[in-house]
Amino acid sequence: MSEVLISEVNNLDGVESPTLPAPVQESPITNNTESPQPPLPPSVSEASPTATDNVPRAADELEALQQFDAELNALSKNLDVLAVNSSAPTVSCPGCKEQVLPTDTRLVVKDFIFHENCFKCTNCSTLFSNVVPFIEQDNSYFCEPCHEKKFGMFCGFCDQLIVGKVLKAMNKTWHPNHFTCFSCKKPFEDPNAAAQGKPTNIEYIEKENNPYCASCYKDMFLPKCTACNKAIENMAINALNGKWHEACFKCQVCDVMLNKEVYALNNKPCCKRHFYEHNGNICTVCNDIIDKEFVSINDKKLHVKCFTCFTCKSTIDDSYYTVDGHFYCPKDVQSAMAEYKKKKMEEKAKAAAV
Ligand SMILES: [Zn+2]
Ligand SMILES: [Zn+2]
Ligand SMILES: [Zn+2]
Ligand SMILES: [Zn+2]
Ligand SMILES: [Zn+2]
Ligand SMILES: [Zn+2]
Ligand SMILES: [Zn+2]
Ligand SMILES: [Zn+2]
Repeated sequence: MSEVLISEVNNLDGVESPTLPAPVQESPITNNTESPQPPLPPSVSEASPTATDNVPRAADELEALQQFDAELNALSKNLDVLAVNSSAPTVSCPGCKEQVLPTDTRLVVKDFIFHENCFKCTNCSTLFSNVVPFIEQDNSYFCEPCHEKKFGMFCGFCDQLIVGKVLKAMNKTWHPNHFTCFSCKKPFEDPNAAAQGKPTNIEYIEKENNPYCASCYKDMFLPKCTACNKAIENMAINALNGKWHEACFKCQVCDVMLNKEVYALNNKPCCKRHFYEHNGNICTVCNDIIDKEFVSINDKKLHVKCFTCFTCKSTIDDSYYTVDGHFYCPKDVQSAMAEYKKKKMEEKAKAAAV
């Protein structure tokens, strides 16, 4: 019975598999002992377990294996060299499910014993050997290329295998520097912080299956204010066929912020006062807006209630007189005229005296 050791190379991190030490690089392992005595048969599988010339070889083998073991341990802590189980009974091979007979060359892999030709890649059937390392995952064995294909993480941008830091986002894996804003192409990971080993905040906004930085997202997808043309991040006022910042929704004349009563002037917001002023609906007497009945005299407009006699203050509802820009009822017009003439005379006299 002969047993060949296979080392498991754990390279889940994507590091290159350590090469096995020189003395055992050739397979089968019995060819690799440095002892010149006695000459070894070319293949261990043909050797009879009862042959007497196997006895010294077994000792040499063990020594070589121990050396192999030590070298492997020195190489990597992940290398797992398995013990020779020479007293193994007849067992079933996990590869073909057939029995491994005592006369068969067997491979001991952890708790399992395989036929020499049954320990192969689950995916591509390449036989494992000292130069074809295997990787165990999910109770299956893979050669490195197949393991990489099946379990390796590939970058969503460059499609290359990711070695080292992996960034997971949007159901994909990325090289940190390859996860970038779809618009400005800047990486989301701060390369300076990453270089110093500091945790970096990866913040992005997903839109239509693409990641965007906050500023590009703002520019591209947020509504623009009709007044200032900048993005509206919070509350937008929908009015006058546009969207507005709350602060930008103000009277175009006096800049007062508008919330309740809003008037449109040339499709821009306007306060009530300036809207009425624009349309000439201001009372010439009280200077307030005119939104109900009014009296129109010449090109002046005034409230009905403001159309009063300047002297008696009663509302004029019929005939009126105008003296020196003021309105008078028929009853008071004469005294108003007298007063007006007197004032004019005094002015004249004053002017003459000068
Ligand atoms: Zn088998
Ligand atoms: Zn394979
Ligand atoms: Zn990449
Ligand atoms: Zn951007
Ligand atoms: Zn604005
Ligand atoms: Zn205004
Ligand atoms: Zn008035
Ligand atoms: Zn009067």
